[in-house]
Amino acid sequence: MAAVLISGTTVYADSPIRKISRSEESMDTFFTITVYSDNTERAETAITEAFNEIKKIESELSVYRDDSELARLNREKIIKSPSNDLKINIERALHYSNQSSGAFDITVQPILDLYKRSFSEKNSAPSAEAINRELKKVGYERISIQDREIKIGDDQRITLGGIAKGYAVEKAVEILKQHNITMALVDAGGNMRALGKKPDGAWNVAIADPRDADNYIAIIPLNNNAVSTSGDYERYFDDKMKYHHIINPETGYSATELISVTIVTDNAFDGDALSTAVFVLGKEKGMKMIESLPGVEGLIITKEKEILRSPGFKFNNN
Ligand code: ADP
Ligand code: MG
Repeated sequence: MAAVLISGTTVYADSPIRKISRSEESMDTFFTITVYSDNTERAETAITEAFNEIKKIESELSVYRDDSELARLNREKIIKSPSNDLKINIERALHYSNQSSGAFDITVQPILDLYKRSFSEKNSAPSAEAINRELKKVGYERISIQDREIKIGDDQRITLGGIAKGYAVEKAVEILKQHNITMALVDAGGNMRALGKKPDGAWNVAIADPRDADNYIAIIPLNNNAVSTSGDYERYFDDKMKYHHIINPETGYSATELISVTIVTDNAFDGDALSTAVFVLGKEKGMKMIESLPGVEGLIITKEKEILRSPGFKFNNN
């Protein structure tokens, strides 16, 4: 895991506050919800409802579930009366496509499908010709979104893998809030969002060294904000990690300038999209984007192991 919650005390001797934590697999990763509360029953109910929301979002937005709304859009190229969840995610994705000059582009799914096919069938990388053929299908400009209709190009397929986990995390936090929970951390495979702080202070999240899981690069104290990490070491197709799951939409190859990007922001939805966008943009353009956005800080690690921090990224370093 890219980021790890450093656990503190579980039971407070002279306080009724308890720590309640549950993990479930969803959206191709593990979600963990941790709540501090003096009302265990309320906390359990809130966590159950939050997971129900996450599962609902997965059933709409997963690209790998044939019955999801997103899978239907990819098959039929048009969705009438889309769910709010689908619409909000595509709108936010397009916003970040524009902000990142196309580095963030949810239409890269045909490239990912090609990688998957090629490595599972031939156990080798696809040819440059095959990549170029699929690259013609990539282009967020061809997505059209209206009030009651979403359309993509006839040859296009989209993925919300770079943004929807952050969205699900935010929605889970909303549900917890509705149940009067005030201290919680929701973690979806490196997309973390704190609701308030813990009884003894901030939630300390350790950012792992991308090439040495036993080591960490920074500890980020979260208090009602979010941290999101994108790395090449989590999901890859080949042993050398040259073909991994974050695609440069300009070239059709995986983005290779960076090995890890950590974004600190006030919510996980933006954090998720931004960490993926900056990963594609690379060190200079990526850092520029971080610095241009108020309330956003970031830490970038290049392939050469150079570590760059945005001016406001002032957290404990290892
Ligand atoms: P993780 O899913 O491991 O948390 P990210 O948040 O960085 O990592 O998202 C990676 C996912 O984003 C990929 O699995 C894919 O679904 C999608 N993706 C890949 N390249 C891009 C891109 N250039 N723009 C938008 N989404 C992308
Ligand atoms: Mg992301």
